[in-house]
Amino acid sequence: DRIAAVDGGENGVNAYLHVNAEEALAVAAQVDALRAAGETLHPLAGVPIAIKDLIVTKGQPTTAGSKMLEGWMSPYDATVIEKIRAAKLPMLGKTNLDEFAMGSSTEHSAYGNTRNPWDLGRIPGGSGGGSAAAVAAFEAPLALGTDTGGSIRQPGAVTGTVGSKPTYGGVSRYGAIAMASSLDQIGPVSRTVMDAALLHELIGGHDPKDSTSLNEPVADLVAAAQQGATGDLSGVRVGVIRELQGEGYEAGVQQRFDEALELLRGAGATIVEVSCPNFKYALAAYYLIMPSEVSSNLAKFDGVRYGQRVVPTDGPVTIERVMGATRAAHFGDEVKRRIILGTYALSAGYYDAYYGSAQKVRTLIQRDFEAAFAQADVLISPTAPTVAFEFGSKTDDPLAMYLNDVATIPANMAGIPGISVPGGLSEGLPVGIQFLAPAHEDARMYRAGAALE
Ligand code: GLN
Repeated sequence: DRIAAVDGGENGVNAYLHVNAEEALAVAAQVDALRAAGETLHPLAGVPIAIKDLIVTKGQPTTAGSKMLEGWMSPYDATVIEKIRAAKLPMLGKTNLDEFAMGSSTEHSAYGNTRNPWDLGRIPGGSGGGSAAAVAAFEAPLALGTDTGGSIRQPGAVTGTVGSKPTYGGVSRYGAIAMASSLDQIGPVSRTVMDAALLHELIGGHDPKDSTSLNEPVADLVAAAQQGATGDLSGVRVGVIRELQGEGYEAGVQQRFDEALELLRGAGATIVEVSCPNFKYALAAYYLIMPSEVSSNLAKFDGVRYGQRVVPTDGPVTIERVMGATRAAHFGDEVKRRIILGTYALSAGYYDAYYGSAQKVRTLIQRDFEAAFAQADVLISPTAPTVAFEFGSKTDDPLAMYLNDVATIPANMAGIPGISVPGGLSEGLPVGIQFLAPAHEDARMYRAGAALE
């Protein structure tokens, strides 16, 4: 009923691309019956969840926000979806995103903009704007997102929700349509840090179907969130990353950030300053590594292996011309831009200058984090340099759009976990505070996040 009331129509939130009401209600009824029969169920059984439409689901369409996959149904479930079904969370439907998860505003979806529930004239962040807006508008208490350069955390920040990116490999990527495989990670979107911890524990763990999946048990993240919720951070060193604040960050964002530091100090944390000098190259390196992987991962959408086929009517029908016509018609501008960038960066003669250099920068970013984590248990920064911006304000300037991810990208480059928690409002719009932890130490960011919350 809530989705019907706020999602559709001219001024609707448009968080959902597909609503799965019948199945969701059936699962809810089943949970009621099992509970009445005295069965012990997972703590999240019966709690509805929305799924970013980059994650494949049997029996529901998966579009990746692209015309390329319009009408496509996956023959199998992603591993995270299998876990959600087994724990009996009713799946409400599939949420909107920038095409193939490329963007920071959800304006690159082939299915229209998702609106930010705080101000319908503004973006909900991206690429997972649909999942964040659904949670912010009370159209779902939980959602799943994917984060390649910030697509869970930045939408969380600008919609006043919690968005968590686990350690790379901590949650199986099997069944998440790949954008940039060395950076992609599935994670939770929720209203509270505790909810995110519960969902993270459910979806995490080793998966033989994902060769990059970590072979280690999921930590007790719920206990960490409970510990944080006591409001006591005595003995915890919180490192402020000098390069991810100050210049380039909106005054209102900086103010909320400074207040967060005061609150953490009040909770007993020690605030230290750390420096990550190579972060100034992170965005440039990301925009070489990510498009390179994109150009390879998206090669399969050619109208033959995957994608709605377009047969040219103006000349010979060769396989190259079918592929060309399919890709010309069904990929949007941003996707094409990145495929071209990636193909160029990987081409013979340029590989060392571009991709090779970017990989070296990636190592330097990892070393910056190692040095910073020698001085601090968790690191902190604003999640995004601005609050939600107005529709159309950055669509003509890709570089301005890319800059919005300056604070989220380093975590993906290093494979470390990050969480965005609500940090109050600036002129009526939400500001997000980001905590980062060393790889495998996701529990630390849940503790710190719950304490700030
Ligand atoms: N906004 C970033 C980009 O456009 C991140 C995307 C993502 O995390 N999927 O690449």
